[in-house]
Amino acid sequence: MAGFDFNVVLVRYSEIGIKGLRTRRRMEGLLVKALREALSYHGVEGVIDVSDGRVFIWEPSSVEGAVKASTRVFGVKSASPAYSIDFTDINDLIRRAEEFFAERVKGRVFRVRARRVGVHQFTSKDVEKLLGSRLLEAGALRVDLENAEYTAYVEVRGGRAYLFDTIVDGPGGLPVGSEGLVLVLFSGGFDSTVATWRLMRRGCGVHLVHYDLGFPEPVRVAVEVAKYIADNWSFGHKVKMYIVNFRGVARIVNGLVSPPYRTLVMRRLMLSHAETLAEKIGAEALATGESIGQTASQTIRSIHLIGGGMKLPVLRPLSGSDKDEIVKEAMRIGTYEFNKRQVEVCGLAATPTPRGGVDRFKEEYDKVVDVVVPEPLEIDLKSRSLNEILESLKL
Ligand code: ATP
Ligand code: MG
Repeated sequence: MAGFDFNVVLVRYSEIGIKGLRTRRRMEGLLVKALREALSYHGVEGVIDVSDGRVFIWEPSSVEGAVKASTRVFGVKSASPAYSIDFTDINDLIRRAEEFFAERVKGRVFRVRARRVGVHQFTSKDVEKLLGSRLLEAGALRVDLENAEYTAYVEVRGGRAYLFDTIVDGPGGLPVGSEGLVLVLFSGGFDSTVATWRLMRRGCGVHLVHYDLGFPEPVRVAVEVAKYIADNWSFGHKVKMYIVNFRGVARIVNGLVSPPYRTLVMRRLMLSHAETLAEKIGAEALATGESIGQTASQTIRSIHLIGGGMKLPVLRPLSGSDKDEIVKEAMRIGTYEFNKRQVEVCGLAATPTPRGGVDRFKEEYDKVVDVVVPEPLEIDLKSRSLNEILESLKL
């Protein structure tokens, strides 16, 4: 439709809008930084402008690309490709909107939704009624407010109006970097992946630590998932991955620790190691993908034994989630196929649940507490391709 191509993308943000002025300015700054990076990753040029609680991407070189990029940015509630017009009065507005929508509503059941910001001689209801009847005259089938096939949206801001018909959901939440840095114990399975994504959605910068227990395939999958998250979901933040050679630790635990305690002791060794690493890299909390009751090592009692006495907070963003919810979320994030592979390779035999309490656990843990762990390998996930990373790890 020549002359009516969308010329701007409206980006709505969620919770940032309800913050105090200073916090809001800071968060808007982070959001814009992340949006710039997302646009550039998708090869889209455009001018970003923030005003009155909205972000506008003007004249994007690709409208679809701009929508796709912005709906991968945390803090973004939704995005709409729009056609912006400057109008003089309501008659002018209705005439221009009719021109824009007439072809699009032809023969369809429709409704008009108008919103207004600023001082005008007319209300949004006026816009809905007037434009609605004009579009009926222009060939739309009929109006149905509940079950419309097509919605003509008109958003009026001062002397300008934005016309659009599509709202694409973003992830919501807060822009990455508005909250503190978290080190996630990252296996590459469904749970730690979704936990990572949820923390980023709440504004946390994340780094990932993976413990290599001696099988190349799980490490490979973990790196692939981590790379996917870094490329597709971490605009505005540089995610690093740390790979820790835990093969020696695993051997020693299997040799010295009584079988029912081995999994829990391994987990505690991972947490303690991660705590030291977190302090070194400036992370303020740790996180895991544990979900209450999912396995014997994830009961409240096990969580108490594993995590008791840590200095840093250990976040468990999935503690109240069911597995099927988590798997569905992985599908939305786009990591499902990778995660599924990880579950297949991770199918370790379940060990019996230990009966003892804190003292008995500590007795087992103390047998291996001094085990020496090699320095982690640090990978800057964004600056290298997946192949380069895998090659450097000899995977
Ligand atoms: P996931 O889906 O994240 O693998 P899971 O349900 O398989 O979780 P477990 O294997 O019991 O659960 O692990 C519990 C948590 O411990 C994981 O979510 C993750 O945070 C951490 N974890 C387990 N194995 C590793 C590993 N090799 N490296 C890093 N973290 C790990
Ligand atoms: Mg696992």
